Amino acid sequence: MKHSYDCKTCFNLLIDYLEGELDDEKRRKIEEHLKTCGPCINYFQTYEKTTKLLKTLQEQEASVPKSTQDRIKDFVLKEISDSR
Ligand SMILES: [Zn+2]
Repeated sequence: MKHSYDCKTCFNLLIDYLEGELDDEKRRKIEEHLKTCGPCINYFQTYEKTTKLLKTLQEQEASVPKSTQDRIKDFVLKEISDSR
């Protein structure tokens, strides 16, 4: 029996995890994996920071065009994939 997920599974569940959509068992399995996997930790942290940044932008600056938000997102996602 597996006690934690592999990288691909964590990657697929990342958004649900950060949105708090997962049940306790799934969260635990992801957290178990993150304890032992540096690249996934970096990925999660970068993604989380980006998401928060985008939310902050959306809340504080309703005038920030969606294209700008998309550009930030693209930039970070590119950063992530380059480092993997
Ligand atoms: Zn991993």
